[in-house]
Amino acid sequence: MKIKDILASKAITVSLEVFPPKQWDKLEQTKRTVEKLLKFTPDFISVTYGAAGTTSGYTKEIAANIIKNGGTPLSHLTCVNSTKVKVEQVIEELKSQGIENILALRGDLAEFGTHPNEFRYASELIDLIKAHGDFCIGAACYPEKHPESESVESDLKHLKIKADAGADFLTTQMFFDNSAFYSFKENCQSAGIDVPIVAGIMPITAVSQIGRSVSLSGCTIPKDFSDLAAKYSASPEEMKKAGIDYAINQIRSLIENGQKHIHIYTMNKPETTGAVLEGIKDLI
Ligand code: FAD
Repeated sequence: MKIKDILASKAITVSLEVFPPKQWDKLEQTKRTVEKLLKFTPDFISVTYGAAGTTSGYTKEIAANIIKNGGTPLSHLTCVNSTKVKVEQVIEELKSQGIENILALRGDLAEFGTHPNEFRYASELIDLIKAHGDFCIGAACYPEKHPESESVESDLKHLKIKADAGADFLTTQMFFDNSAFYSFKENCQSAGIDVPIVAGIMPITAVSQIGRSVSLSGCTIPKDFSDLAAKYSASPEEMKKAGIDYAINQIRSLIENGQKHIHIYTMNKPETTGAVLEGIKDLI
């Protein structure tokens, strides 16, 4: 099923993200994890794509397995540091597996190495995907701007180009401060970006995740959350519970303020994901 139809037809949607393993011998284990996540009946499950396509076969296989188990997959696809021929081949493979939904991403620029420069931006990948069939296409967005962008305004201008290229919906980078998301939604509205925006929430269950998440994503950690991390730095179990509660409260507040689409970055952890879903079950 196409995700744009799911987003249009349901009052509230909850989707999940998983990542493929780095090595083939862990593939079956990841599939079992995804099968556990499917028991929560998410509206769709997105499957990330390894940097420069290193695990592209696993992404496709996990997405195909989601279909086999009655779910709807969203296959991530990056284009930078790849060639047009290779990307076209992946699109055709996805099509042959019956995968209808692709999250079109530029990918992170490699620090070193051979960058073929056949793609510069995700919008160019959207054009290519559209030329290859009737896919539902999602794209990424950044409530606190993409780390490479000079300003919120320029990032928004580029996001509008991406939406106009044919993105059917946008999924946000993780954020921990809902007010940043509300401002971003208002800015999108003013800029004429009117596709559905899916809010990405990551339950942080260990203090060590915070530094990594912030440095990779550029998102801010609000003081009430960093206070929690300081308080529970010596007690991992309490930190885990506090992180889950924070995610639950964040999602509850989003839904209560009119947000319809929630995406949980599961980090391949069914237990944590189940605890978050339990905390919002009366709203979904
Ligand atoms: P783009 O939309 O191309 O934007 C990149 C930068 O270029 C931005 O600063 C933007 O403002 C600027 N820009 C865009 N268009 C123009 C233009 N026309 N002119 C000038 N500047 C422009 N990475 C992975 O490797 N695998 C994954 O599976 C993955 N999944 C992700 C899922 C989500 C929901 C998100 C938010 C990110 C994900 N990423 C993933 C990370 C993503 O690849 C990086 O953030 C990457 O640096 C940017 O990708 P993009 O598609 O947003 O790029």
